[in-house]
Amino acid sequence: MTEKSKTIAYHTLGCKLNFAETSTIARNLEKEGFNKVKFDEAADIYLINTCSVTENADKETRTIVKRALRNSPAAKIVVTGCYAQLKPEEIASIEGVDLVVGTNDKFNLSKYFSQLPEEKVHGEKAIFFSCDISEVNFFKSSYSLGERTRAFLKVQDGCDYSCTYCTIPLARGKSRSDSIANVVKQAEELAQSGIKEIVLTGVNIGDFGIHLDNQQGSNGDTVTPQRNENFFELIQALDKVTGIERFRISSIEPNLLKDEMIDFVAGSKKFMPHFHIPLQSGADEILKGMKRRYLRDTYISRVKKIKSVMPHACIGVDVIVGFPGETDELFKETVDFISSLDVSYLHVFTYSERANTEAASMTEKIPMRIRQERNKILRQLSEKKRNHFYAEHIGETRNVLFMMNEEDGMLEGFSDNYLKVKAPFDSAFTNRVVPVTLVSCEDDYVDGVIADFKLQIAD
Ligand code: SF4
Repeated sequence: MTEKSKTIAYHTLGCKLNFAETSTIARNLEKEGFNKVKFDEAADIYLINTCSVTENADKETRTIVKRALRNSPAAKIVVTGCYAQLKPEEIASIEGVDLVVGTNDKFNLSKYFSQLPEEKVHGEKAIFFSCDISEVNFFKSSYSLGERTRAFLKVQDGCDYSCTYCTIPLARGKSRSDSIANVVKQAEELAQSGIKEIVLTGVNIGDFGIHLDNQQGSNGDTVTPQRNENFFELIQALDKVTGIERFRISSIEPNLLKDEMIDFVAGSKKFMPHFHIPLQSGADEILKGMKRRYLRDTYISRVKKIKSVMPHACIGVDVIVGFPGETDELFKETVDFISSLDVSYLHVFTYSERANTEAASMTEKIPMRIRQERNKILRQLSEKKRNHFYAEHIGETRNVLFMMNEEDGMLEGFSDNYLKVKAPFDSAFTNRVVPVTLVSCEDDYVDGVIADFKLQIAD
């Protein structure tokens, strides 16, 4: 079989950044002659892009490897991504895995494919290549084109913070960014390909603006990081890109979300009134133990500022339960704090010990059963917040970007302020921003009717 006729299937674990990177890896391999197929189809190679945040990354990788080998028992299994960087040997010993590639070379995978044995040898330990993370000295632009309406565009990678529970800096390295000029160029390319909405993605995007001399290569050179630009300048430049109707900021640290940015979003027609701001805990004592760079007062001020200029804005919150030392009282502080905040939904994570982090050696561990109970309590609070947020907007007419696909005779899309909206299917409205009157709340979406049918058909 020639390289030209090889088929490759992809599976991504984790965040939007990983999805953007898998898409870029796939596009590059396609240019080299590898044909992309679906993961449940037969393939010559299965590539798994792993995540270090995923609970039980090891177990999940094993399950996916088994799934791949059920489709094609002789296929080669390649594993890359954050978990492959952190635990290369552990992944290499998973039955069926042939090759493990760490962070430095995840965009140069084909150079390692030639080292795979011609025939799959079951029971053999995989070959693995990981790097010293301090040597990762490049930024690789990436974007995903998932549903052809929205794209996730990577603008920043790595993190210079040292939150005590987090392995991301160990898996992805130092904070570094694309240049504004290059992000704008990519946004223009995405507009050309019909994309209407771009979600700006990174590890710590508020820290955008640190550049390396060598932005695209990974040649082991010593490079000096320099802050040349900043996130506020980036959003102002993107606001002028024609063809893209919407931008969303995926997630931004509260200490980096400045008043000027909030005011800018409030006045922009393109930046949507939607913020996702990690909180992690509502108790200052726990925030200090996590080495977060803010206390709850900063968080309150961010929420109040947003709501003062955009009362309709959607605010999502990340929170971790069961961090060491989180007593019942401190957990209650978090519950009370979030209850009192005007926020719209939560993403709840159960704390789990990660090797080589400061928090892993902290002594006041919380039993797993209690961590899970707390997770459940906060998920219920999230549902309450979301239902309240959805109900607040019933009767309003809001702009909705509908996706391309039809599901059960319905169009599905998101309003400017991130309400999930469904309306009867009409192909005239797919991949378009349409005013929709919000009629009623259903389980996890809002039923809407398209507000001015004639106007939309005419334009
Ligand atoms: S800000 Fe903290 S939690 Fe987020 S990636 Fe950086 S170190 Fe991890």
